[in-house]
Amino acid sequence: MLSWRSPNNRASLTGGLMSSSAGPKGPLYFYSSQFQKFNYGPTHPLRMIRLELTNKLIELVHLPGPVEDFQPASYQQLGLFHDRHYLTILKELSQGEEVSDYFNFGLGAGDNPVFPGIYDLSSLATGGSIAAAKAVVEGGRETAFAIAGGMHHALAGRASGFCYINDPVVAIKTLVQKGLRIAYVDIDAHHGDGVQWAFFDTDQVLTISLHQHGATLFPGTGGLEEVGRNKGKGFSLNLPFWPDTDDDIFMDGFDRVVPPALEAFAPDYVVVQLGVDTLLADPLANMNLSTKGFCHAVRYFKEQWPGRWIALGGGGYNVINVARCWTLAWAIMLGKYHEVPDMLPEKLADLLKIPADERFLKDPEQKIRGRFWDRAKRDAEDAIKILESTLFPALGAKVVKKITL
Ligand code: ZN
Repeated sequence: MLSWRSPNNRASLTGGLMSSSAGPKGPLYFYSSQFQKFNYGPTHPLRMIRLELTNKLIELVHLPGPVEDFQPASYQQLGLFHDRHYLTILKELSQGEEVSDYFNFGLGAGDNPVFPGIYDLSSLATGGSIAAAKAVVEGGRETAFAIAGGMHHALAGRASGFCYINDPVVAIKTLVQKGLRIAYVDIDAHHGDGVQWAFFDTDQVLTISLHQHGATLFPGTGGLEEVGRNKGKGFSLNLPFWPDTDDDIFMDGFDRVVPPALEAFAPDYVVVQLGVDTLLADPLANMNLSTKGFCHAVRYFKEQWPGRWIALGGGGYNVINVARCWTLAWAIMLGKYHEVPDMLPEKLADLLKIPADERFLKDPEQKIRGRFWDRAKRDAEDAIKILESTLFPALGAKVVKKITL
């Protein structure tokens, strides 16, 4: 495997913000049982139970539990990014008031249903992401993980892709306000479009999204040509993957794009969206990752950005995969990956009626050669070469030699 080089700007940029010079304190994760009060509807793929299941699995494998007493984001905080008019409409709908033109705001259609408490759910999830950012930046935590966050599709005045409020953007803006340079890395199967557009014109935030190719998946964006605009030109990186991308293709792409770009940009903090709809058997996407590929990315941040990364949740529609991946992510953050069993606890596997031969918590080594695997491998190689020749020079990123896997 490639050796990751340390970021080169550990010096004084974060200066007085760290609470201790003795190194970062242990990580935290943020979750509240309050999330279970909300429901997108019986046929909607985003099920709140995935968060509760994650929390349950973490408990069953004896890892430390969550911080539950965080505050919802305030109207003012949401207003750092979102249009006031849109927030008002969201609030009115949330309280069951009659609103005539909500369709104009992406609301009420299949993806973004209107249900009681949508504003409260979104502001609580965003509050978790802000609390996580604060825990790292002001609280000196090694990292913090807001599992209900990562709603990366919402736009300033419009709901999109199950997302009403864009918590990554709001959290990043709270940090940018302090004069910090932020990098955002998004490994969800869907392009992190809302975050990319929010920072498309600025060189203060570098966005990197690794995702399934837009020609084959919502939201259809995230092509190599989306590189930023005006002052932001060169500060949006996209690595699209063709369907049937597996662990090896993903890890090779990750290693050749994310570390060199982050080292060159030298951010103060990295905000990471840990969507898990890249896994095999996700009902909404067509990539074939296992926990191996997912954990590879998490491990990089754990090893290279201690005290300087903030993790958010994201997509993931196979609820068992969500619970497995985020439990493993939490274990990696704690340095306890090897203490977690390979198999799911029997109690949970029985409850979920998982067949006996599929009860893995950590996936065994798997080689899945889907129909489009050849194309996925070839296209990823081409895309990486294009990024290396077009975006890397201006960013000052060094090309990483490809290691044959
Ligand atoms: Zn997604």
